[in-house]
Amino acid sequence: MTREELIHQVYTCATCGYCRFGCVVYNETGLERHTVRGRMLLLKKVLEGELPLDDRIVDSIYMCAQCQNCTINCPTGIDFVEMSEALRDELFRQGKIPDSARMVADVLTNYGNPYAQAADEKGAWLPSKYAEPKKSPNLFFVSCTSAYPLNRVAKSILRVLEKIEYDFTVLGGEEYCCGNPLIRLGEHEKSQEMINKNTENFRKLGVKRIFTACPGCYRTLLNHYSSEFKIQHITQFLLDLVEEGKIKFKEFPKKIVYFDGCDLGRHCGVYEEPRELLKAIPKVELVEFEYNRENAPCCGGPLLGGAPDLAKKIAEKTLREAHDLGVDMMVTSCGTCFLAFMEAAKVSSIQVQIRDLPMLLPPLVEKGE
Ligand code: SF4
Ligand code: SF4
Repeated sequence: MTREELIHQVYTCATCGYCRFGCVVYNETGLERHTVRGRMLLLKKVLEGELPLDDRIVDSIYMCAQCQNCTINCPTGIDFVEMSEALRDELFRQGKIPDSARMVADVLTNYGNPYAQAADEKGAWLPSKYAEPKKSPNLFFVSCTSAYPLNRVAKSILRVLEKIEYDFTVLGGEEYCCGNPLIRLGEHEKSQEMINKNTENFRKLGVKRIFTACPGCYRTLLNHYSSEFKIQHITQFLLDLVEEGKIKFKEFPKKIVYFDGCDLGRHCGVYEEPRELLKAIPKVELVEFEYNRENAPCCGGPLLGGAPDLAKKIAEKTLREAHDLGVDMMVTSCGTCFLAFMEAAKVSSIQVQIRDLPMLLPPLVEKGE
């Protein structure tokens, strides 16, 4: 977004306040500067020289989960996520980013992942037969989240692929962060370096189709990588295999509610494939949250790094709703959502089983034709 487009958006705001209704941050803090309307009014004053671009305004720009719920409610079509990326880009250039965001950016540039883990340990969870990437048209892009704090998701996917004897490769320690967290923080130069290194590796192995369980990686691979690769979220990829008859499921008599994460849902429009995959499992009873698909709330996960207490409060609201639906478990397709709910569950009295969708599958999968 150019500076002119940004200014145009600021002056487009009709100050109606509809952007507040689905904003999980505003619903917790109650602060007008955490609404898009509040930010537009503040930015107008900055543009007209009535206010300096001080820490309070910078904080208001970063205190946002970039979930895009406000965009679907805005009658004038203001896209604050796009605006905030341009604003963060500018603030990064001016060295005005908040300390918490600076720390995250430093970790990402120094370690190549957001978890401050050694880069060459990224493949440590892999069985030894995957130690060296092999040539294959199919690549499982594991993601930092699935390689470090959540490798039970990656292990589940590996078990499914092995059960159906699917030909694929993994990069292990040679997989770089997809670049998504740095793009979100406004650090585009470093993220491009990561994109270039990954692309070089994909080409070296003859990769044509890439699937990942991380919606942030999926969104980045789809929008910032070469279109020569077919990009799929793991739920799309597995649903294809079900439809081709390569995967069959055993019965799983459970009442499940599916939670739509923002990256996969509002940002990429993937709502039906995870549901279709769950419905393909015999005896699953799938129910819905009152607010689902494009109206689903954010899980709070994107704020875990900068505002963890706020993130947990936001996640706890969804846990309560799932509990009130009387389900056996809540299933999501996003590691960040899963971690946010698990963090909230640790400090909450609400007991709900939470699963990232691939974690359900290994005991249920049978090889098809
Ligand atoms: S993107 Fe989400 S968190 Fe940010 S202002 Fe919009 S609704 Fe609120
Ligand atoms: S909904 Fe859109 S137009 Fe209305 S106050 Fe929010 S940003 Fe402005």
